[in-house]
Amino acid sequence: MKNIPCPCNPKTDYKNCCEPFHLGQQYPQQQEILMRSRYSAYVLQNIDYLKLTWHSTTCPDNFGDMDSIKWLGLKINQVNEDIKHQEYFVEFIARYKDSNQNGKADKIHELSRFIYEDNKLVYIDGEFLV
Ligand SMILES: [Zn+2]
Repeated sequence: MKNIPCPCNPKTDYKNCCEPFHLGQQYPQQQEILMRSRYSAYVLQNIDYLKLTWHSTTCPDNFGDMDSIKWLGLKINQVNEDIKHQEYFVEFIARYKDSNQNGKADKIHELSRFIYEDNKLVYIDGEFLV
């Protein structure tokens, strides 16, 4: 099978990047890798993986219309952690076009927060940045 570029980073092969996480062969041990694998899951509409990596208290029941979104790329700006409080952060920009909004290019600039739940690093929430 032909290698396909990973959605999170077109310079890498999907099979050597996010695919092992999506297949459940590995689980990301670090917040940047987790963030990347979740972005790729959005691109591939892998809702099971989004739920797997989402804190049980904040995970949505319904992901709405994902077909209208065309993801254009991910850029990680900063990775931080607050070891004392066991909080892990990733600041990123994800670009997309939404056909429900005239297909205009837009972006999400977010500081995502990750914590451990059942010994597993998961996304809990995020703060939108301008
Ligand atoms: Zn990837």
